[in-house]
Amino acid sequence: MKLQVQAMTSAASVAEELLKCTNFAAEKHKNQRRKNPDKTPYINHPIGVAYILTNEAKISDLAVLQAALLHDTVEDTDTTFEEIEMIFGKSVRGIVEEVTDDKTLPKHERKRLQIEHAPGSSKEAKLVKLADKLYNLRDLEACTPEGWSEQRVQEYFEWSKKVVEGLRGTNRSMERSLDQIFLRRNVLQ
Ligand code: NDP
Ligand code: ZN
Repeated sequence: MKLQVQAMTSAASVAEELLKCTNFAAEKHKNQRRKNPDKTPYINHPIGVAYILTNEAKISDLAVLQAALLHDTVEDTDTTFEEIEMIFGKSVRGIVEEVTDDKTLPKHERKRLQIEHAPGSSKEAKLVKLADKLYNLRDLEACTPEGWSEQRVQEYFEWSKKVVEGLRGTNRSMERSLDQIFLRRNVLQ
């Protein structure tokens, strides 16, 4: 009986933590839209990334799911790493920090560093990166952002493949889904 109560309490607190993150990210991204022609609310993306992790990758590590929900807040909003640490703790901050590009660097350099840093990332960061790539590539397969040429889309798939190469051996389900996408796009190396 005591154990049952404890289990219920912890399930409730996990739900509470996840909703706290979802709410925080929704507030931060509230004025942003995705680049698809329908201009979907941006928050659909971090929620979708976290959902890939639970639903497809079968991940239940709370810090990974929290980091997924928060993964674009520092890169794309006024959120700071200190704020994330204060509200969600050190380990969530650490994962978010690992998946955040340095915005002071030129775009080309940031993209190169994603390829370079992927293999040395923690398992937690690799999981978030795989889910992020999977979500973005599915978006690109569904529709082309306004102003993007077919060549730009193809280059994005090719760059993503190079990042994913450095994330392998982390989660079979997501890696299989990514491989199917690369095969469909004829991205072989
Ligand atoms: P960007 O990095 O500019 O855009 C891709 C990112 O946008 C994704 O990683 C994703 O990041 C986010 N995103 C938002 N909505 C969508 C969506 N519907 N589908 C997919 N991703 C979405 O793209 P590039 O890598 O192509 O651009 C790199 C740089 O080169 C940019 O500065 C760009 O302006 C420039 N450029 C490149 C050209 C080319 O032919 N390659 C042509 C013209 C300019 P997140 O997960 O953070 O939301
Ligand atoms: Zn993202």
